[in-house]
Amino acid sequence: MADLIRVTVWNEFRHEKHLEACKEIYPDGMHKVIADFLSAEPDIEARLAALDDPDHGLTDEVLEATDVLTWWGHMAHEEVRDEIVDKVHARVLDGMGLICFHSAHFSKIFRKLVGASATLKWREVGEKERLWVVQPGHPIVKGIGEYVELPHTEMYGEFFDVPQPDNLIFISWFPGGEVFRSGLCYYRGCGKVFYFRPGHETFPIFKDPQIQRVIINAVRWAGQGGSTLKPRVSNPEPLDKLPD
Ligand code: ZN
Repeated sequence: MADLIRVTVWNEFRHEKHLEACKEIYPDGMHKVIADFLSAEPDIEARLAALDDPDHGLTDEVLEATDVLTWWGHMAHEEVRDEIVDKVHARVLDGMGLICFHSAHFSKIFRKLVGASATLKWREVGEKERLWVVQPGHPIVKGIGEYVELPHTEMYGEFFDVPQPDNLIFISWFPGGEVFRSGLCYYRGCGKVFYFRPGHETFPIFKDPQIQRVIINAVRWAGQGGSTLKPRVSNPEPLDKLPD
């Protein structure tokens, strides 16, 4: 039996309170839906955290007990306090996994980790999306076929200003003609980061079984394995006797 992966599902949790179209789909918040399908897996336990919790729900104790943090934000990125972002950043470098959904491309933590503006094109008319698998051997697409199709979503298009990822897992196609790199893996320090484009708040995207499959796979990828190494400056004595 693999070790239990401890996930903290972080949500800005504002649209669900104020936007009728979002409240109807996610009455208890997107994070509740995400945590529920993750917790149904025998090797995953998930807890909730939200922007308006004390310290945004990301105290030192919570971060220390988190193997993978998932992040959804949109309208209130600027309200996330910089010292919390710095702590999350340090935890990622120390080996915590981070999964950023959809509009979290503009979150402080994602932009800090990738070091780019993360700007993109967008259009909200409810068009179809096909996410094509372009790295079929990767564990994040275990159990997924040639593509994942979402009937209605917001479009994101290139140019997406991010560094070339360590692994590109999905490329999305939209009927309006745009394409988008929609599943990106980055290694930062000892940690793993996955950006996954789906997750617009007014469509039931986190209830889609294939999207859930990808997220479960991504939690396992980001939360398992890896070295016990921590990135530290050091000035060591030689391990072996140096040649004369
Ligand atoms: Zn959106």
